[in-house]
Amino acid sequence: MNEIYDLIIVGGGPGGIGVAVESKILGIKKIMIIEKGCNHSQTIRKFYKDQKRVDKDWQGKSVELLGNIDFKDGTKESTLNYFDSLLDNHLIEAKFNCEVDSVKKENDLFMIVTTCGTFTSKNIVISVGKMGKPNMPAYSIPLSLKTIVNFNLDRCGNGESILVVGGGDSAVEYACELSKTNEVTLTYRRDMLTRPNPTNQEMFANFLDDDLLSAKFGVDIVALENERGKAKVFFDNDESEVYDRIIYAIGGSTPLDFLKKCAIALNEKLEPIFDENYETPTKGLYIAGDIAFKSGGSIAIALNHGHKIATHILAKV
Ligand SMILES: Cc1cc2nc3c(=O)[nH]c(=O)nc-3n(C[C@H](O)[C@H](O)[C@H](O)COP(=O)(O)OP(=O)(O)OC[C@H]3O[C@@H](n4cnc5c(N)ncnc54)[C@H](O)[C@@H]3O)c2cc1C
Repeated sequence: MNEIYDLIIVGGGPGGIGVAVESKILGIKKIMIIEKGCNHSQTIRKFYKDQKRVDKDWQGKSVELLGNIDFKDGTKESTLNYFDSLLDNHLIEAKFNCEVDSVKKENDLFMIVTTCGTFTSKNIVISVGKMGKPNMPAYSIPLSLKTIVNFNLDRCGNGESILVVGGGDSAVEYACELSKTNEVTLTYRRDMLTRPNPTNQEMFANFLDDDLLSAKFGVDIVALENERGKAKVFFDNDESEVYDRIIYAIGGSTPLDFLKKCAIALNEKLEPIFDENYETPTKGLYIAGDIAFKSGGSIAIALNHGHKIATHILAKV
């Protein structure tokens, strides 16, 4: 007979860690995080550049932390260390390299089908984030350009001409960092940057003033072509330019098929349905973190979801 968990959390990012730690502190006993990566926080590990500044009030949105987790401004490394210590200090059980395939409710229990077996729990939180599925541009990306068209900085070298596409904080941070060792242009379809937080706006303006990078605003990309192994980019103002590499920093999208396989009801706009406690219409099934929003989540917001959900689960016991 499988052991029955009080709470299983799908996804070991800030949302999942927040739920697990707050739940443990509040007294929920049998808790497990299931994470498909080889460690927690895959979005932070894969999409944040090394030494990236991590803002608590990400994208200028001030968030008051509600629970017991004392998350502060820091760096990629200090944030990961802090999450390590939370998981260690609160003895959170976690299964890594284990991908959840589906969830279904049978009688009063959830059956969680994964690549490492089936688990049973009284409550379940889905917190899988959006960066498993980075947003793709509307035009097609030639297969032959796959290695030089990227969605994070993993493959970037030095001395390349790089086009960064996007108008948010990630795009600005990527562009400024890459410009230290590369020739960088940031392109954004609007006439000016409005989304980045004030610190990033100022940093970008300084880099531009000092001619450390260039910007192409108010133009959209309409097509990409392979030109002798490089990316030829066609803009909607009839210009074209050749780059060694393109980095898209245009966010991610909700994994709708996965949510459907987890029995999460969606409204007519294909957004997950949940109440003020992040509980879906299926009692005991919650969602947390970025997937609760169309856009604009953050680490602190995800951690707050954890506190809210833990408090709600405890109130039912
Ligand atoms: C480049 C960049 C910079 C950012 N900078 C900041 C910042 O400075 N400050 C800030 O507050 N926010 C920042 N953010 C936003 C922040 O990272 C997110 O809001 C936060 O990570 C959301 O947490 P989450 O737990 O909802 O999702 P995620 O962090 O995406 O975590 C989801 C986890 O679920 C796992 N998973 C997915 N599917 C499955 C499955 N089927 N089975 C098991 N596990 C699964 C994933 O591997 C992942 O580890 C940034 C985002 C990006 C992309």
